[in-house]
This record gives sequence, C-alpha cells and structure tokens, in this order.
Amino acid sequence: MSEPVIALNNANRVFAVGDERVHGLRNVSLLVEPGEYLAIMGPSGSGKSTLLNTIGLLDRPDSGGYFLEGRDAGRAGDDERAGMRRERIGFVFQFFHLVPRLSAAENIELPLVIAGMPPARRHQRVASLLDRFGLADRARHRPDQLSGGQRQRVAIARAVVTEPAMLLADEPTGNLDRAASKDVIGILEELNQRGLTLIIVTHDPDIGSRARRQVRMEDGRIIHDGAS
Ligand code: ADP
Ligand code: MG
Repeated sequence: MSEPVIALNNANRVFAVGDERVHGLRNVSLLVEPGEYLAIMGPSGSGKSTLLNTIGLLDRPDSGGYFLEGRDAGRAGDDERAGMRRERIGFVFQFFHLVPRLSAAENIELPLVIAGMPPARRHQRVASLLDRFGLADRARHRPDQLSGGQRQRVAIARAVVTEPAMLLADEPTGNLDRAASKDVIGILEELNQRGLTLIIVTHDPDIGSRARRQVRMEDGRIIHDGAS
C-alpha cells in the first residue's frame, strides 16, 4: 500500500476567545491516500477551515499527531513546516489572495521565483498553465483587470505551479457566479484526474456531492466520513 498523503490522528484545537474556549477541532482523525478527492461540508463555524488549515500547516493542533507523506509534521519546527508547506501543499481561498500589483503571469510565477527555479524553466511552466487554464490572453493583466473566475484560475495555477502533493481549496467558488464556479470545479477535477490529491471545503451540496468522499463536520467533530 502507498504512504497516506495525510494522516491526522486525534487532533484537537481550542481557541481562547476572551475567557471562553472555542473548540475548532475535537478528536479529529483523517487518513487520505494519494489521488483522493474529498469534500468537507458542514455548517458555518463547524471547523472546516480549521481542519483545512491544520492539514495545510497554516495552523497547529494543540494535541494529536500529523504525518504528511510520512513526515512528522506534528513534531517539525516552524522552518521545516514552512518548507513542507511551500513544496508539498497548494492552497486556494475564497477571496483569491493574489498580489494586486503583479500580472497574472507574475502571480503564477512567484512561488517558482521563491523556490529559485531558473527563469527559462519558470516561464515555460507558467506559459503552459496559462494555456491549460484558458488564461493565455490574460497573462499581462493585473488581478483588478480580471473577472472573479479568471482570478480564481490564476490562484489555482499559482497553487499548483510547484507541483504539490495536494491541493486544498477553502470555499473556492464562494465568491463566484454559477458559470465561473463550473469552470473552477472543472479545473480542480481535471487536476485530480491527473493524480493530485484534492480537498474542497464547500457549502454547495451540488459541488460536495461530486467528490468521491464526503466529510461532514459539526461542532469541531467529523460526524460522517464516506461516500455519500
Ligand atoms: P468553518 O470554516 O466551518 O466556518 P472555522 O474552522 O473557521 O469554521 O471555525 C471553527 C470555530 O473556531 C468557530 O467557532 C470559530 O469562531 C472558531 N475559530 C476559528 N479560528 C479562530 C481564531 N483564530 N480565533 C478564535 N476562534 C477561532
Ligand atoms: Mg471556513
């Protein structure tokens, strides 16, 4: 059997809000094999983003273990975790988070610049993604010159340009109309069909039901995990 890409074991996360304790995660365990396609669903405040941020090394559980591709991310220091995040994890958010002053092509290229890839190889990879995602004629546009759907396609290209092990998308269609949502889901699913592990947090039952595996959260707990 192959190594799980995600092995989260009994994770707990508690936030202190004033003198209250808010549970983001309660004893959450999740095992994900390479190439899986999961949807995480549940009401607002149920812990979906906390779970995704934990998987994506943007947040650390207060207790519990986490192995990412067999590496102990739970015990890793901050620098090592940042390296794992840069190299192995792609993130896509509801509000895109593109760099406003950079063009579409420059936004996509940025992670490769940070990784120190030579320019010729960078440009080749960026051009190929622009082309694949229907953005070739938008390469030099800045984010404010792009539609929501185009911005999210740029954000997805930026997330996968480093060829990560998994793509984590937190409400990626939450700010898009129906047509743009369909485009974005199509691109995410094509990436998954080529082998990328895909996890989508969504409120939209039509999108959630497309995934091969549904995880439902309530009050910081996983209350369902399986094919719907
Ligand atoms: P969801 O994404 O399902 O809407 P979240 O994971 O964002 O839920 O939040 C789960 C719970 O944890 C909520 O009650 C939320 O208010 C709380 N929470 C999340 N992040 C923080 C934080 N940084 N500080 C305090 N409370 C937080
Ligand atoms: Mg959320």
